[in-house]
Order: sequence, then C-alpha cells, then structure tokens
Amino acid sequence: MKKLSLRDLEVRGKRVLVRVDFNVPTEERDGRTVITDDTRMRESLPTINYLREHGARTILMAHFGRPKGKAVEKYSLRPVADHLHTLINHPVAFSRHTTGPEAEQIIADMKEGDVTLLENVRFQAEEEANDSGFAQQLAQLGDLYVNDAFGAAHRAHASTAGITKFVAQSAMGFLMEKELQYLKGELDQPKKPFLVIMGGSKVSDKIGVIKALMEKADTILIGGAMANTFWKAQGIPVGASRVEADKLDLANELLEHAKAKGVKFFLPVDALETEEFKAGAQTQQTGTVSASRGVTEGWQAVDIGEQTIALYTDQIARAKTILWNGPVGVFEIPDFAAGTNAIAEAVANADATTIIGGGDSVTAVKQAGLADRMTFISTGGGASLELLEGKELPGVAALTEKS
Ligand code: ADP
Ligand code: MG
Repeated sequence: MKKLSLRDLEVRGKRVLVRVDFNVPTEERDGRTVITDDTRMRESLPTINYLREHGARTILMAHFGRPKGKAVEKYSLRPVADHLHTLINHPVAFSRHTTGPEAEQIIADMKEGDVTLLENVRFQAEEEANDSGFAQQLAQLGDLYVNDAFGAAHRAHASTAGITKFVAQSAMGFLMEKELQYLKGELDQPKKPFLVIMGGSKVSDKIGVIKALMEKADTILIGGAMANTFWKAQGIPVGASRVEADKLDLANELLEHAKAKGVKFFLPVDALETEEFKAGAQTQQTGTVSASRGVTEGWQAVDIGEQTIALYTDQIARAKTILWNGPVGVFEIPDFAAGTNAIAEAVANADATTIIGGGDSVTAVKQAGLADRMTFISTGGGASLELLEGKELPGVAALTEKS
C-alpha cells in the first residue's frame, strides 16, 4: 500500500511534527558530550531543509539512548540540538520538556522556516508504552506528522505510531522513503543475478531474513560466526569457535530449504583461526575444511580464509544486485578484518546495485573507507532486518495511505 510522502503535504505555515532518528553515538570529552558520528542527523537533512524551504514550522521529536522513561541528564538531546544548528546553519530551539507549556510556548513563538527539537521522547515511559494520552499530547503540538525515523520504525511507540491517530495527515520523510525504496522496492524485483552476503554473529538473529531472501536470491554467501554453526551442523570441526550449538537443526533446515529453492548457498571453505581472541594474536589459515579437518582444537575461526575470499570475490563480481548484511569476521580487530575488507572491496568494485543492510556491516564498510562507493547504506539495524524479513513496520503502517 502506498503511503503519503512529504511531497504530498501542504506544509507552508503549518506546524509539522517530524520523528527523526537522532540516536547518534557520542563520547564524553572534558565533561562535554561530543557526537562521534552524525550520519543519522545528516541523513535527515533533506527532510528538514525541504520543510524549512517550504515555510513550515518544523518540530523534531527523537529518542536518545535508553533513559527508561525517566529524565536522565546524560541522555538529553541538547547537544544534538546544538549540533543540528551547525548542520542547518539556523538556530534550533530546544524544549527541555517533551510536551507541556514550555514546548507549547516555544512552538507558539516559531516563525516559518524555524526548527525546534523537543527533549528525548523516551524521558516519558508513555513513549515506549505507545500510550495514547501521550501520543495525543505530542500531536497537539503540531498540525501534520512526518516519520523520517527509519531506525525506529520497527517499534510501535507514541512518537512513531500512536501519534498518527491524532493528526490530520501523516507522511514518510525523504529518508524513510529512500530506505523503503532500496530495502523493499529494489529488492522486490532485483536485477539478476541477485546475491546476498549474510554474516554477523548469530544465525538465530537472521533466520527470518535468510528464509525470506531465499525467495528472491540467486546466490547466498555465508560468513561470520554464523558460518561456524553451519559448519558444525555439517560435521566440520569448529574447535573453540563461537557457535550456536542449539541451532544445528535449524542450520541444516536452511541448507535443505536453499536446495529446494535452487539457491546457490555457499559456506566458507576455509577460515582464519586464532588461539587468542585479541589484537596481535598469532593466526593461521585452516586450509580447506572437511568433516575430517576443520578449525584446530582450542582455536577459533575469526574470519573467512584466503580461498573463501577468492571464491566469494568471484561470485560478487557476477552479481547485478548485492545485499550485504553482517561482517564476515571479527572486523573490529584489524588482524581479523581482512575478509570483511576484501568483501567490502569486492562489493564496491561490482557493476551492480549495492545495498548495505544496516548494523555492523555499515561500520565495517565505513572502516574500509568504501561507504561512498555503495549504492545505498541503510541507517537502520533492527528495522532493516524486519523489513528484509518481509514484516510490515509499525511506523510505516500507521502513516496515511495515498488515495
Ligand atoms: P549486523 O549488525 O551487521 O547485522 P551482527 O550484529 O549480526 O551484524 O554481527 C556483528 C558481529 O559479529 C561483529 O561484532 C563481529 O565481531 C562478530 N563476528 C563476525 N564474525 C565472527 C566470528 N567468526 N567469531 C566471533 N564473532 C564474529
Ligand atoms: Mg549488529
């Protein structure tokens, strides 16, 4: 079902409530909160700037950290408001209360093109409870609603879903629209061959996604700790590797399912192994694995091996659409990052639509310095996975349908 887009709204002179995802990583430096990566904020600028240029009064709502329903100073959005000021080159008013008289007064004083950020919606327990009274209080602050918080769209909270019942119209922001276009639109009828790279820590996190993607994908490449679970399920020794021992049947089921669907499903053929899980540790290649030879006893697989890199690189080069979710090794430790970096390089070099499906894979691609060579990089972790799984996101479902 098509949802209204920000472009469909008549915003001039209106108070537009915009839910954004400003849950940015921060660090304390000399008693100050410093934003270490403002990507999520920058990704919302097209929506914010459009509203400003079209004479709207923009009221931003966001969550930050996990204050668990209480006002916790370190989770205040004030530093985010200050940073946004520098990004849009226009003052950003900040309301220390999410709703109530202070917010109302600040909003009453706004002029067309002005921007206000409300304090962390999660300072109120009612937010995550999707309390309709709180949703209504938020809604009263504006006339129209725009959801640009893709990263929070898999949650039905007051500011992401409940609020839509109390405003005249609710629409997708431009970031939301772009995320849906790539993670849903493009992948509905992907250019073939469609190749998926699945890595990360647990197969159990991604069963739904792998199953759903088998309906569309021609090739699936497995890496990361989840590969160990597949190996163990196939009787390949995994030594002291991280493995989900209770998911072996499930791994075999997925392999059967792939066979039935005619999907080329690749497991790594070798790995980089280490005795110690730390930087500077001694490592070695396992060589080609089989039922009689796998990871050395007491050692653990921490990255795909050289042969797997060659095999996967070759597959990646043939694809026309590539979706990557989950690093293929412990990329946070440079000694174990070669596989993930090689995959990132191969994806960047492919003559294909390349989509990075959120979470740690995004960090890995950035770390490899290849972010600007990808077609699309999702800002959502959990939300991307749920969307790829084919689930409807509550924050999208609640928006006004296009007539
Ligand atoms: P994403 O966020 O991209 O979906 P996940 O959260 O599922 O990815 O997994 C990322 C984590 O998996 C990383 O922290 C990485 O260190 C870890 N990981 C990858 N390969 C291995 C491995 N062989 N052993 C242990 N941890 C691994
Ligand atoms: Mg993750």
